[in-house]
Amino acid sequence: MEITRRSFGLAAASAALLPALPAAAKEAPAGAQAPGVYRLKVGAYEITVLNDGTGALPTKYFSGTADGAAKLLENSFVASKDMAPTSFNEWLINTGDKLILVDTGYSNAIGPYAGKLPKALAAAGVNPADIDAVVVTHIHPDHCLGLLTVDKQIAFPNATIHVNGEELAWWLEGDMKIPEGKPFFKELFEGGRAAFKPYVDAKRVQTFKDGAELAPGVFAVTAAGHTVGHTMVRIAPSGGDQLLIWTDIVHSTALQFPEPERSIAYDLDPPKAIATRKKVMDMAATDRLLIAGTHVGFPGVGHVAKASTGYAFIQVPWNGNL
Ligand SMILES: [Zn+2]
Repeated sequence: MEITRRSFGLAAASAALLPALPAAAKEAPAGAQAPGVYRLKVGAYEITVLNDGTGALPTKYFSGTADGAAKLLENSFVASKDMAPTSFNEWLINTGDKLILVDTGYSNAIGPYAGKLPKALAAAGVNPADIDAVVVTHIHPDHCLGLLTVDKQIAFPNATIHVNGEELAWWLEGDMKIPEGKPFFKELFEGGRAAFKPYVDAKRVQTFKDGAELAPGVFAVTAAGHTVGHTMVRIAPSGGDQLLIWTDIVHSTALQFPEPERSIAYDLDPPKAIATRKKVMDMAATDRLLIAGTHVGFPGVGHVAKASTGYAFIQVPWNGNL
């Protein structure tokens, strides 16, 4: 049969003439995905990407024109061209001796869109009590509220919490420094302070500086702009393989790969965040680094390629064998 749009229409029409299906379905639809768990090997280390949820960001949160954003979303899977899809990903690093979790997700702060990290950890066969260290890349709700359970209890009872020292001081110490025109920062401050409090009280928080080796071959790399101490995690165990967890270098794949000059309202210092993004993207493309991003569609692991305008993201294919 010749493939035309008309023949597809006719096929649909004749399908309607088939006998109706029995009323009782064999199995009720699941109505949800299985937990998001994706594993990859980096040298001798096993990295598990864990998905806390998915959502969409209004394009008006980004700098640049709404029309330009709508054009970039033309070929994306979106319900409307003023909402840019995003993801909330975290990572578990298994070094063989230690389990290190990078970021903790939103907990129950945004309803059904997130808070799935505990289920993803369970699906990965990991008990939160077995996690030795939690690296909080920056003190934003989607990265730190999961330090507490939905009952506001410590979620990782045996872990030391690691965070950049300037980041911790900026969010937790002294008055809240709410930037002009960004009143929503108050909520960010309150959330961060509440999430850290039980760990600070228990003296379980350790600060680090740019370049610190958090575990053998696991390095903190400051990429400031989004926040004062926004941290990327470079995983480079001996043997040459590397993964750069670039955290919040990108909040929307569809908008910020082709147009890295688009900042987001949550950026503390937009010009600096833009400069940092451009620098990291250029490095990732030039050195063909494997990157992983919080807000790049799950699993959000892949390469960055230079494109005719800006960059393109090339996601790793599903790989059943590590
Ligand atoms: Zn984020």
